[in-house]
Amino acid sequence: MSPAVSLARLFAAALALASVGLVALLLLAVTREIPWGAAIFAALALLAGLMWRLRRPMQEAVVIAAAADRLAEVDAAGTVRTPEIIEIAAGLARARALVRERDEEMARRAAVAERILEALPDPVLLLDRDRRVVRANTAARELLGIGVTAGDLAGFLRAPPVLAAADAVLADNIARDIAYKVDVPVERHFGVLITPIAPVAGTAPTAEDRTSPRAVVRLVDLTTVKRAEEMRADFAANASHELKTPLAALIGSIETLRGPAHDDAKARDRFLGLMAAQAERMRRLVNDLLALSSIELVEHAPPTTPVAVTPIVRNVVQALEIPAKARDMRITVTADEALPPVPGDADQLAQLIQNLLDNAIKYGSAGSEIAVRLTAGAGPTGMPGKVVAVSVADRGDGIPPEHIPRLTERFYRVDSARSREAGGTGLGLAIVKHILSRHRGQLKVDSEVGIGSTFTAYLPAAARTADSAAA
Ligand code: ADP
Repeated sequence: MSPAVSLARLFAAALALASVGLVALLLLAVTREIPWGAAIFAALALLAGLMWRLRRPMQEAVVIAAAADRLAEVDAAGTVRTPEIIEIAAGLARARALVRERDEEMARRAAVAERILEALPDPVLLLDRDRRVVRANTAARELLGIGVTAGDLAGFLRAPPVLAAADAVLADNIARDIAYKVDVPVERHFGVLITPIAPVAGTAPTAEDRTSPRAVVRLVDLTTVKRAEEMRADFAANASHELKTPLAALIGSIETLRGPAHDDAKARDRFLGLMAAQAERMRRLVNDLLALSSIELVEHAPPTTPVAVTPIVRNVVQALEIPAKARDMRITVTADEALPPVPGDADQLAQLIQNLLDNAIKYGSAGSEIAVRLTAGAGPTGMPGKVVAVSVADRGDGIPPEHIPRLTERFYRVDSARSREAGGTGLGLAIVKHILSRHRGQLKVDSEVGIGSTFTAYLPAAARTADSAAA
């Protein structure tokens, strides 16, 4: 149904259109060209006719205006907001939110990947297809001195076999594993694993592909493993060598006794004495080897029972008075009162103190004094908390400083002839080191050539208990 157009609007429209005719009729009536009655009649007829003619166009105009009103809903800010436009805008907003979410998710994943790379203890590098380093974690940057702007791998890793392997991996996408050795500042051995990163399937190549990672280089530090292997091999060689010498002496003596010295009572006594000394040397060596391996077996499990160190020290000192006297030496013991107990293995602690005292007796000057001190206090660097320190000081030749870092190595001796002559096995301080390692303690060596040496064993004190506090 057509909408109604009000009479007033129709009249106003007709009046506007007929204005010229009406003025003409008015002039004619005023000049008496036509009578007033005819003029009024003509004017009314003209208006009525026009109103009738304008009725339909004006109805259509109202319809159009209503449609236009519906189409152009204008909000307060003057923005056109038709339902279609609202729908399109909502769709765009949803798409924008999705893109933002995806961007945030990608940024999150990139941050996680970055953190994983940084957290890896092994040096890791990412190479692009031109062998340029595009990423390196902290371990790699520190090891290879890679700065912010990285370049060709050759600039950081000057090892032709590794570079050739990297080229081969980038060319044929087959992983390679290669050995790499660094000489400075200390010798280090690495296994270099180079693994290809295949391009993501289904994605079209982009300009970024030139710099996207195409291979992962992981350096695995094999220095400790290599050193352990070397030490094991050295140890087996050294131990058999140490046993071979007295064994050869024993066999030689037995042959002499069976042969030329068979009927020589004097020679027999001499050879029997020699054999006893060599057998004793072998016994000591076997004992030390067994002690070392039994300590190593439990090294990972620190003792937990609190033990008092002073009585252990006094017992050992008492037992060593005879060998000390044999060299005209005297052992003095001074101990802090109320020394805290330490979580310890009493037998191993006795062995530790005995080994240090044995050395003081062996390498101290004849007739000198050996001072044993037991003190409680703060520990050295790396040992937080209270410690008990047991120091053994002798007056003797002392040890040249270059030897000190190696004293606890198995079979390491400053003067091999002197050690053997004194009945040393070369294992005493290695045993001390392992006992301390099990007790989570430390060894400190202070020595001055021509004056003497002080060996101090630091042991963590037991946590104060109600009992020890009361004691
Ligand atoms: P050894 O059985 O030869 O004494 P250790 O492992 O006990 O073996 O000691 C290693 C080396 O350290 C000894 O050979 C000796 O050269 C040196 N050493 C150890 N303690 C002392 C000390 N108190 N004074 C001088 N040198 C020492």
